[in-house]
Amino acid sequence: MTPDTAPLVSLVGAGPGDPELIAVKALRRLQAAEVVVYDRLVSEQILDLVPAGATRIYVGKANGQHTLPQDEINALLVKLARAGHRVVRLKGGDPFVFGRGSEEAAYLARYKVPFEVIPGITAASGCTANLGIPLTHRGLATGVRFVTGHCRDDIELDLNWESLADPETTLVIYMGMANVTRISERLIAAGLAPDTPAAAIAQGTLPEQRICRAPLAALPKTAAAAKLAAPVLIVIGRVVALADALAAPLEAPGRSDARTRSASHG
Ligand code: SAH
Repeated sequence: MTPDTAPLVSLVGAGPGDPELIAVKALRRLQAAEVVVYDRLVSEQILDLVPAGATRIYVGKANGQHTLPQDEINALLVKLARAGHRVVRLKGGDPFVFGRGSEEAAYLARYKVPFEVIPGITAASGCTANLGIPLTHRGLATGVRFVTGHCRDDIELDLNWESLADPETTLVIYMGMANVTRISERLIAAGLAPDTPAAAIAQGTLPEQRICRAPLAALPKTAAAAKLAAPVLIVIGRVVALADALAAPLEAPGRSDARTRSASHG
């Protein structure tokens, strides 16, 4: 589909931060956008891809303080599309992974606004790849689960700990830092070994990326001491132990464009 025939609203995944980690289709939509509606997780580097003449509307949420409630974001998208604008709704990672993209899609469908969904590299894939942590690995992990570690302040984090405490499955926890102590305790109480390798990855794929590794039992303390800046992704499972062996060399033989990688191994 060319930009001229594209739907009015494109729900676009911006990936984990590195501007080179977006889909070709996403880049095309960004370059043709008239209005870009974006979240807090969308990196500056990605926003630099938006044409200078396009209108940028920030609807991000900082620490539970909703800059714009979800129903107002939905209504805004419909309003902009009805005014004839080519709208890009840009979301960190993948719009359909903990991104409420599906709620926006449902609303657009209800109001008969033509839309499309362009997937993005979700944090679980993006943040682990360049650190040498495979989400699955023969003999170590037969599967992977993505869960949210977020819950309202007044509510106990309600996850099925017994089913999550599976040594054969890699566990990736989005929005989990506020509850990392509880997560570690509950998984161990449910039977996961306290020495299961674990990592907290901050600002993955960005130049500021940091990784903090520790056995599951020590992750809360180690991560707190590291004072990681948001966003942070938690990865738990045997595959984390492969990071040393699989992390790409910073400088390939014969090449001088070394990437930076700051790592604090706990
Ligand atoms: N739709 C997004 C997830 C939104 S939920 C996606 O598919 O990736 C927000 C959470 O994602 C953050 O709290 C953090 O846990 C994780 N996250 C997103 N980008 C990240 C990054 N660059 N580094 C570390 N964690 C990230």
